[in-house]
Amino acid sequence: MTNPLFDLTGRTALVTGSSRGLGRAMAEGLAAAGASILVNGTDPARVGAAVQEMRQAGFEANPAAFDVTSEEQVVNAFAGFDASGVTVDILVNNAGIQFRKPMVELATADWQRVIDTNLTSAFVIGREAAKRMIARGHGKIINIGSLTSALARATVAPYTVAKGGIKMLTQAMAAEWAEHGIQANAIGPGYMLTDMNQALIDNPAFDAWVKNRTPSKRWGRPDELIGTAVFLAAPASNYINGQIIYVDGGMISVL
Ligand code: NDP
Repeated sequence: MTNPLFDLTGRTALVTGSSRGLGRAMAEGLAAAGASILVNGTDPARVGAAVQEMRQAGFEANPAAFDVTSEEQVVNAFAGFDASGVTVDILVNNAGIQFRKPMVELATADWQRVIDTNLTSAFVIGREAAKRMIARGHGKIINIGSLTSALARATVAPYTVAKGGIKMLTQAMAAEWAEHGIQANAIGPGYMLTDMNQALIDNPAFDAWVKNRTPSKRWGRPDELIGTAVFLAAPASNYINGQIIYVDGGMISVL
């Protein structure tokens, strides 16, 4: 029997960027805890394939393909949820991109694209979700930060700024929405094995740096975010607000 503190039965979770990577792993983890999942990404075919695979695994999943950087698409998606009686009880703002370039060579458009995808989207989708959560008197928002929510690294300035912003956006959400029964918290993953990091994983020097620098001496697996995601989506975290939990094999705690 599921411990009620961690039971998500009857809840619907919108996980942005859940067609693959960390979002997909967290979506499956929330589904295994009982939630119905709205699977998101920009590519409808990839979203459809993820929905099919999740259903075959016995999970409840439905497609919600939209571009998180398009306010129009976000607003339309929520209007569609309203029209079909779908309530987003849990929002995971996970969709994100990386772009590596030294700042002196960085075009403003590339800066803006990373900020729009990794930070502004979380505000816009968070706002649309929270309006409805406030009316219902409860809701869970989980924003995906990074080690760069706290520490800078060369060549990824816009990503660092966006993820630092995610930490403070999470606190701003808690400041305004906690009294309405919403808990907004963040997860800061360490170096995880996903497509986003393929170039780094394939680089022997970087791979060795990650393994040496991380106290756990290894990269993280996407499924290792599930426990924290379920905790922050579940009644177990009902008095936790505005926090960021690093799931990083100890990296941020150690020099
Ligand atoms: P992936 O590149 O593996 O997956 C990204 C997901 O986001 C895909 O489902 C992609 O779908 C979706 N996505 C990208 N842009 C958009 C958009 N504009 N609208 C909707 N969906 C979009 O990334 P990860 O799983 O590695 O990363 C997920 C999150 O975790 C990101 O926020 C990232 O910054 C963060 N993170 C990752 C770490 C890591 O080590 N991997 C470490 C710390 C944080 P599609 O391409 O079909 O649009």
